[in-house]
Formats: sequence, structure tokens, C-alpha cells
Amino acid sequence: CLLPRVVRELLHDRLSPALWNLLMAIAKQAEVRGWQLYLVGGAVRDLLLSGTNNSKQAQSSLPDIDLVVDGFHQTADQAAGVELARSLQQTYPDARLQVHGRFQTAALTWHNHPEFDSLWVDIATARTEFYPYPAANPEVEASSIRQDLYRRDFTINALAIRLTPPRVGEMLDFFGGLLDLKAKQIRVLHANSFIEDPTRIFRAVRFAVRLGFAIDPQTEGYIHHAIASGVYHRIQLEMEKTPALQTRLKQELKYILEAPYWKSAVRLLSDLGAMCCIHSNLHLDDRLWWQLRLVDRWLRRFDTNHTLEQWLVLLEVLLAQLATPDRVKVAENLQLPADSIERLRSLDQIQANLMANLPACFRPSQIYQHLHPYNLPTLTLLAVLMPRHTRRQIWHYLTHLTTVKPPIDGNDLKAMGYKPGKQYKPMLEALLNATLDGEIHDRSQAEAFLQATFPSP
Ligand code: ATP
Repeated sequence: CLLPRVVRELLHDRLSPALWNLLMAIAKQAEVRGWQLYLVGGAVRDLLLSGTNNSKQAQSSLPDIDLVVDGFHQTADQAAGVELARSLQQTYPDARLQVHGRFQTAALTWHNHPEFDSLWVDIATARTEFYPYPAANPEVEASSIRQDLYRRDFTINALAIRLTPPRVGEMLDFFGGLLDLKAKQIRVLHANSFIEDPTRIFRAVRFAVRLGFAIDPQTEGYIHHAIASGVYHRIQLEMEKTPALQTRLKQELKYILEAPYWKSAVRLLSDLGAMCCIHSNLHLDDRLWWQLRLVDRWLRRFDTNHTLEQWLVLLEVLLAQLATPDRVKVAENLQLPADSIERLRSLDQIQANLMANLPACFRPSQIYQHLHPYNLPTLTLLAVLMPRHTRRQIWHYLTHLTTVKPPIDGNDLKAMGYKPGKQYKPMLEALLNATLDGEIHDRSQAEAFLQATFPSP
């Protein structure tokens, strides 16, 4: 029984007092202008999902706050959401205001705030989107809250809570989102949803796996229909024309591949036949599945400080299945970082090079010389793509050879009387090679080696 009073109490209980006061302050600004303000999207969904758990949780566990203002009489020069955000900024001068998008959505953000910590509040003006053709950039116009909710992806994300009087706390559920939350299912609002926006397939999978929900059978049918229609294949051919779609697709891939549940999500994407939305030749076979899990294990073993973008390396493994021109094209369209694109471009060449040289390397210093030019993401990628013998050499390089240090460094050379200069480089390299190959173990052996190899200073 989601009476306004119950929802109000839930909000009050779930949000920190500072956040509650902020929402009420924004609602007040809307009210004095005769507008309606709504809390929408993920915050409503997660609020209801956590509703059974009455504990007072910090607001930081809530997603970003999405608000929609139904501004019946917008000012001529700016959208209602922007006007609200600007007036709010006078009350909260420490908030940063950003206005973005063709339809002027305003975002207020706080970082390391004593009460909000980090908080992102989007204030949008109720709008409708039209897709002039599949996967196009939508055209946008002002609308009522009902139409605004109708443009959303799934029923569970199309719920709204009214924050302005007279019915503060009223739940707006035009499309059966509450029932779907209860039934734990992901359902789209209309049959064309996935044709309009292919990234919704990735979102459906993400929410299904993350929330432990099922994709409703009819919605799954729409996914199959959209894929079978060939629309994504056509989109791929014209990817450059849809940069906004590419940005969203990259964002969704990132969300999925960096989540702790990425394996289940990738499997579900594959079961739905949706890998082809990344590229029509991409399929999750046993080998690719093994490669993904192996990369994951290697990264956990070698990138213990999480300095790498591990999701990106997983994505590179996926793209590495494609022919080089295709993988580079997809990477460019997704606007991956330049070093990722370069790695995908040069992968075949590096592999050929190593295949030609590594099998004949028996001394550790030789293996070191061949692998040293490459960074961890490249080596990890090479390891899963190359035969077992090479993989073992890369493993040995990362676990042992990279930890070897000669017993003498540049300062010692100076102390020994060698004049500093560019001759230090070959000397230190020779020392490292001899240490790698087990020819020297301690300082006195190193000094003897130097004197024999590089006549005394
Ligand atoms: P999360 O907790 O993952 O952030 P969220 O629901 O807040 O979940 P966002 O990506 O922040 O997800 O999107 C906010 C809201 O915008 C969604 O709840 C949904 O209503 C709407 N939305 C986002 N992406 C799409 C899309 N591709 N198509 C339609 N509606 C979307």
C-alpha cells in the first residue's frame, strides 16, 4: 500500500536529513512557480527495493538523484529545470552547476561536502523524445511527466514520486512498474524500444543480473526481434553518424565489464545473441569465454593496486576476436583511449614478432629483452591469445624476471669511479642480463663482472 504518506515516510527514513532538506528546497522553488517536481529513475526503484529493509542507510548508497520538473509555463529563455537549478544554487553556493544537452538538463554536484559527501542531482524538464529513425539521436520536446516517463527504458525505471504539494509522496506508476518490481522482472514500455536504442539490451542485462531479476518473456522476444531485424548491423555500418549512441554503448559496456557480476552479464548477453550488437562477427565461444576468465585472473594477480582499467582490457579481449580492421574500427567508434586502439591495431604484428623470436629464447635475459617493451595490458592480452609455451614465458617474465635487480646500481658505479655518462646504460643492461641469467648473485661478483667486461675507470 504505497499511500503518499507511506512513500513520504520511506523517503524520510531512507534519505539523510540533509538530502531530504535539499529535495524539499527544490520542491519549494518549483511550487512557488506553480510547477510539479518529481523524483524519478533509479533512485525511486532502489528506494522501493530497499523499502522492506527499514534500516537508516546513508544517502551515498543511493544512485544519483534524477528529478524531473513539469514546468507548464516555462520561461522563454531557459528550461524549467535550469531555472530551478540556478535558483537553488543561490541557497547552496557550494554546489557546482552544469547545464548540458540540447534540452538543457541542469546538474548540481557536490564533492566532499560535509553533509552530502559526493552527490549528483540532475534536474531535467519533462520531455518527450522522438527517434526519427532507428538508433538515431532523439529529437526532443517539452512534455508532461507521463510522456517523460514513457520515453524511459523499463517499467521499473519509469516510476516517479511527486515532491510538490498537494500530494507529496504520490507514486506515479503509469506502466506497471510496481508490479514488475514485485515480480522481479525487466519489461520495456513498448515493442520498438530496442530498435530505438540498442544500448537498452545492455541495460536490460545489467539490471537483470544486478538486481537478480528476469527479463520478461515478451521483452526478450522484442530483443530477439530487434537483433533479427538486422538493425544493429546497419547501425554498425554507419556508426560514425551516431556518436551519442557510441558514447552510451561504451558506458554500458563499461558498467557491465567493471561490475563484480560481469561474467553472468556476458553470458546472458551471449544467450540473448546480443554480442553481435558490438560487432556482427562477435560470438562468445568456449575459447573466448576461457580467454576472458583468464585475463580476469591475470589482472587480479598482477594489477593488485587496480591501476589499470580492467574493464577495458576485457573489452579488448572481446575485440581481439575480430579481424584487425574491424576491431580498430569498433574501438575508434567507441572512442576507446588511444593506447587501447593502438594495441588492437598492432596486436597481430606483435604476436607474429614474438612467435618468430620467443621459441628460440632459452636464456632469461633473452626473454626479458623481447617482453620488456610491452606493458601489462599488452602482455595479458598476448598471454591469452598465444600458445601455452609463450603464455608460460610471459608468466615467468611477470612473476620472476621483472622482480630481478642487479646488485649494483648507477650510484655504485659512480662510487666505483666510473665517470657518469651514457656508457652507464649498456653497463647497467649488461649487469641486469648477467643477473637474470644467474651469472652474478652478489656485489663482489658484480664488481668482478664489471671489471672484466668494462675495463676499469
Ligand atoms: P544506476 O543505479 O545504474 O545508475 P539508473 O536507473 O539511475 O541506475 P541511469 O543510467 O543513471 O540509471 O539512468 C537514469 C534513468 O534514465 C533511468 O532510470 C531511466 O529511467 C532513464 N534512462 C537511462 N538510459 C536510458 C535509455 N537508454 N533509454 C531510456 N531511458 C533511459
